[in-house]
Amino acid sequence: MTTQPLHIILMGAPGAGKSTQSRMLKARYQMNVLATGQMLRDEVTKQTALGLLADSYFQRGTLLPDDVMIAVITERLIHLTKNQSFLLDGFPRTVVQAEALDQLMQRQGDAIDAVISLSLSDQEAVRRLGGRRMCEGLGEPFPLHIDDKTSVEACVRLGGRLVTRPDDEPHVILERLRVYEEETAPLLDYYQHQGLLHTISAEGKPESVQEQIVQVLDGI
Ligand code: AMP
Repeated sequence: MTTQPLHIILMGAPGAGKSTQSRMLKARYQMNVLATGQMLRDEVTKQTALGLLADSYFQRGTLLPDDVMIAVITERLIHLTKNQSFLLDGFPRTVVQAEALDQLMQRQGDAIDAVISLSLSDQEAVRRLGGRRMCEGLGEPFPLHIDDKTSVEACVRLGGRLVTRPDDEPHVILERLRVYEEETAPLLDYYQHQGLLHTISAEGKPESVQEQIVQVLDGI
């Protein structure tokens, strides 16, 4: 396993399993995971000004403005020291955000090492998101699928609550997939040109997707 600090971007359409993979990678590489969607949901819970703003975008399934998200991520990244590994889950989501990230990394004398893109068919994304619930109340909220009876029962037995994310409502799911295609998918070309892109199929089980990501990261 590599001992260099890793600076990784994890991309993928909604439902591709970014948060599941980030949790596993965090444990394996002791990385700081900066997950913008979860940061925003925490702000919604705390009812801050950013949370109130985010909530209105969640209801529609659209992206928050670039300047807001660039400020959020800059604030977090400048507090990390050079030798700390990080994984960005959910940022950047537009070319404008990617350019701002490049500039920030340059100013810090650093660079992104790899971009992992998890690919998934729309059909499977709709199936996963339609059945996704968050298990809340047991530490960091985590996703599970309603067909996974064992996980559902374990969540409830341990005192957790099953909650549907507002942006997992059926009419919002389709809008999020459209927004991904239109605003985020162009980033694949952007990172391909930089020679950083690694595309991995997310159709398999989380463990096998994880294995493929680990192969990429250990090869850096
Ligand atoms: P996620 O948990 O990554 O699926 O993000 C949930 C929602 O948070 C997205 O659908 C957006 O509304 C918002 N969001 C998260 N990250 C970003 C970002 N980098 N730019 C704009 N909006 C974001």
